[in-house]
Amino acid sequence: MRYSRIFGKTLRQAPAEAESVSHQLLLRAGMIAQEAAGIYSYLPLGWRVLKKIENIVRDEMDKAGGQEVMLPVLQPLELWQQSGRDVSFGKSLFTLTDRKEHMLALGPTHEEVVADLARRYVQSYRDLPLLPYQIQTKLRDEPRPRAGLLRVREFIMKDLYSLDVDEAGLHESYQKMCRAYKNIYARLCLPALMVEADSGAIGGKDSHEFMILTEDGEDEVIHCSDCGYAANAEKAQFAKTRTDTEPLLPLEQVATPATKTIEEVAGFLGVSSSQTLKAVFYYADGEFVFVVIRGDLEVNETKLRNVLKSSELRLATDTEVNGAGLVAGFASPIGAKGVKVVADDSITLGFNLIAGANKPGYHFRNANYPRDFQADLMTDIALARAEDSCLKCGGKLSLSRGIEVGHVFKLGTFISERFGASFLDSDGKSRPIVMGSYGIGLGRLLAAIVEQSHDDKGIIWPLSVAPYQVHLCPLSLDKPAVAPTAERLYQELQKEGVEVLFDDRDDSPGIKFNDADLLGIPLRLTLSPRTLQSQSVEAKWRTEKETQLLPLENLAVQVNKLLNEAAKPQS
Ligand SMILES: [Zn+2]
Repeated sequence: MRYSRIFGKTLRQAPAEAESVSHQLLLRAGMIAQEAAGIYSYLPLGWRVLKKIENIVRDEMDKAGGQEVMLPVLQPLELWQQSGRDVSFGKSLFTLTDRKEHMLALGPTHEEVVADLARRYVQSYRDLPLLPYQIQTKLRDEPRPRAGLLRVREFIMKDLYSLDVDEAGLHESYQKMCRAYKNIYARLCLPALMVEADSGAIGGKDSHEFMILTEDGEDEVIHCSDCGYAANAEKAQFAKTRTDTEPLLPLEQVATPATKTIEEVAGFLGVSSSQTLKAVFYYADGEFVFVVIRGDLEVNETKLRNVLKSSELRLATDTEVNGAGLVAGFASPIGAKGVKVVADDSITLGFNLIAGANKPGYHFRNANYPRDFQADLMTDIALARAEDSCLKCGGKLSLSRGIEVGHVFKLGTFISERFGASFLDSDGKSRPIVMGSYGIGLGRLLAAIVEQSHDDKGIIWPLSVAPYQVHLCPLSLDKPAVAPTAERLYQELQKEGVEVLFDDRDDSPGIKFNDADLLGIPLRLTLSPRTLQSQSVEAKWRTEKETQLLPLENLAVQVNKLLNEAAKPQS
């Protein structure tokens, strides 16, 4: 490709709204262009990278036994109503009405379509297992598109679905996919960490995410270096501290003037925050919810949403709290009537706690569960934090930020049951198909590679996905022999099968080298009047400082050898 002809130009500066490194560098390199919030065009260089990522993903899916299909973007809304996920996806589901007044959804994922197909085509246990997959555009109305390709509304995703006869079969398919994902990350030079994850709107039981740890990531990962436990903070569990058993003292009201926060109350009464009960109020799908948790802990809203099976959860305002007959700042589960109370199990691990008295300026001492109040739901809804103790080994947990680059789900039978997607087992008995779902966003992978592999000058593409392998960079094109030699090398390299970006512009070395570094093509070949004197070109890897001279004679063969050697450790 001649650089002078390419659609897309490098920019000296990224637009101000570009927040993440990948967003800035991909825009500056002319690889992507924004059309609207969370909606991007891929320009030729970016698209070449995406196609290479796609081929690696496809190759690993095929090796794992996947069968490629193409499922529709336009899906009858009835399919979503049948699974009930029109509710769990909520406003993230794009919908539209056609000219015959039929409601349609723009597919954010394809479990419904797959279950519908399985209902029609799978009859016997002999038809299973099956691993259909596709690489296709998905649409989700994200509330907050951000960070370039990291959170978008339209994206290309590989989604594979496993259809099995039982849990053991599902487990085998799940393991197969996890191995395939690890192979993909290795080929993309991405050090992905497998972490336990929340299933979110997709639903199901077991779920794992693959994370690239980076400061710009929008997810939080809790991990234990002692035993290797790793989980998304949305899901992470930890060992809650427990105090020694004490005799239960009688409930006693105390004046706590001008104390509203847990810290103020604890300070005023001379106790630690772990000896208090914290009240937090939410609206979950329009229902008022009273949450009680030990004062030293925070509510994990994902866990709470799952416990309540709600799609929309938000904090209640003080007015709403007062409207529920409670006194904001002094609200108490003791005597609370007509509201749903959800408690974190931490409140059972201490005794004689401080709780609100539901009266301005007053608290109770010696509140004890269940003697003094009850909960409609008692479970773990606490947020794990750095320095908490590992539930598995007692080690110290730490917290890192990460980018999710893959998500796998053990769905089980909840969707196939609703669709009547069943098969006859060897005894002739009808059973629901056991499903799994496995997604990888290709643009997300591309952005993650840039987040992971760059320096202050630009992108550093791994050879496996670089838009071109070689950046041919002739200098002083006006000087004798440079232009014709560069043209000849460009042809020779291409004839030898080398992918070349030929910077045929008559620009200064500074401009050319800066662009080469920004574009991040792995091997740069510089031809100048000086190298021509010794009948050679200067070769430089994007990752190295040193250069080497390669003789012009048989250059294409030598370059191919260098590229093959460099590719070895990754294959
Ligand atoms: Zn541990």
